[in-house]
Amino acid sequence: MLVDFQNEPLTDFTDPSRRAAMKEALETARRGFGREYPMRIDGRDRLSGHWIRSVDPSRPREVVGQVAAATREDAMDAIQGAWAAFAGWSRVPAQARARCLFKAAALMRRRKFFLAALMCFEVGKTWSEADADVAEAIDFLEFYGREMIRLAQPQPLVRILGEDNEVIYEPLGVGVVIPPWNFPLAILTGMTVSSVVAGNTVVLKPASASPVIAAEFVRIMEEAGIPPGVIQFLPGSGGEIGDVLVSHPQVRFITFTGSRDVGVHIFELAAKVHPGQTWLKRVIAEMGGKDAIIVDNDADPDDAAAGIVTSAFGFAGQKCSACSRVIALADVYEPLLERVKHLTERLKVAPADLEEASYGPVVDRAAYDKVLEYIEIGKREGQLVTGGGPAEGEGYFIKPTIFRDVSPGARIAQEEIFGPVVAFLKARGFDEALEIANGTPYGLTGGVYSRNRVHLERARREFHAGNLYFNRKITGALVGVHPFGGFGMSGTDSKAGGRDYLLLLTQAKVVSERF
Ligand code: NAP
Ligand code: MG
Repeated sequence: MLVDFQNEPLTDFTDPSRRAAMKEALETARRGFGREYPMRIDGRDRLSGHWIRSVDPSRPREVVGQVAAATREDAMDAIQGAWAAFAGWSRVPAQARARCLFKAAALMRRRKFFLAALMCFEVGKTWSEADADVAEAIDFLEFYGREMIRLAQPQPLVRILGEDNEVIYEPLGVGVVIPPWNFPLAILTGMTVSSVVAGNTVVLKPASASPVIAAEFVRIMEEAGIPPGVIQFLPGSGGEIGDVLVSHPQVRFITFTGSRDVGVHIFELAAKVHPGQTWLKRVIAEMGGKDAIIVDNDADPDDAAAGIVTSAFGFAGQKCSACSRVIALADVYEPLLERVKHLTERLKVAPADLEEASYGPVVDRAAYDKVLEYIEIGKREGQLVTGGGPAEGEGYFIKPTIFRDVSPGARIAQEEIFGPVVAFLKARGFDEALEIANGTPYGLTGGVYSRNRVHLERARREFHAGNLYFNRKITGALVGVHPFGGFGMSGTDSKAGGRDYLLLLTQAKVVSERF
């Protein structure tokens, strides 16, 4: 008998034994630097002669690992192999598939510190961010395992006399899984194991900034008993092999999480029906955000400031859910800004593996250049309050940056920056605040700090966001508690970690027998 789903607890790093365990894990991870990781096609190692170098953004000269980069031919082989594995895997009972996920969760729990340490180095997560990433990955395994068991049980239907009716959730076939680097274990795990537990087989193409943690995930899934070929591990550049995978006529579905531009491209490409293709591809695309927190005149400015700083600068603002716009009503604008500035200036930007880091670097050179460019744009569009450029260190460190008096149409108020930059906008009333909040093509997360019940209820209905939070931070969605997905150009609102998710990866068949 399974116990009910519960979220994996976060590690308390004030406990000296936990701190010691984390430090030891960092050492272990560091000793593994420079290792080579192959692709895994049909359960076998494969090299290509080309490599993706994964570096530590806190110290870009350090190579965390090298991962084999797939060619187009490897991509073709992976799809064929996944179909070969589908025949067997799709017939494995749901309970047994789920048990592989539960075992993988146990393995991850045992390797929690090591997996977290690897993410500190590979993508620049702080201890607590990396720990939360592992916890979320475990949650996805435990949650989707239980969800599949639920869906495999007899489903409620209206009964009529003389007939036996049944609905069965069948797998779709071979899917392509394309996750981002910013939750390099959690999102990758959620996207992959949801597909697999539903009876599908997948080609997993990890993000090129985080292929080492992806390789560790694949190893864990294999140890947990996932048969060869069910998860084809195909690292490679999205620009080089992405189109081949997405447009392949034998691909049944694509699950993507990443930027808006790439998501739109995939959606368009997948819509085309190629010769020999006998289905319309399903696309789950979860994309970017321009997430806003509204602060009402009667809100507690200390409370709001703490929530804003955590939401805006956690993991250097590199969360799809990060707060990048603060829309404050006129009376609270100045006191709020002062408090946010004060808290922001106490943040310590440092190499992410150091215990004292509030946040680390941005993920790579391209992100660094892009964020700094937006900061320069911001200097023309608003007034700089604090930050405004690189922070010290050899890595891709950027000071936490605040702009004030930004207009709703400004680029820094419209475009996703994906870095530690937040824009303050002033609203004359709650109507205008909502209008500004809804005035972007996105609709991922949003927040309201208010004590006014009428305002909160209006926002409940009118704030156009897939995940809306009142009087709390807008990041840190928990599996099962806050099913996650966005509106508009933020995506297809798949609600990862919720009861509706596996339905997207299955097709319902109804069998009716007259006796
Ligand atoms: P990205 O640049 O769009 O990359 C995402 C994935 O797409 C990577 O695996 C990438 O591979 C691949 N890719 C790139 N070009 C491709 C192509 N032509 N065809 C197929 N795949 C391709 O996004 P990112 O920088 O990794 O992640 C940050 C973005 O993700 C932000 O916009 C953030 O808001 C969004 N995000 C959204 C959610 C959500 O739930 N809505 C959650 C997390 C992140 P390479 O790495 O090899 O280029
Ligand atoms: Mg890296």
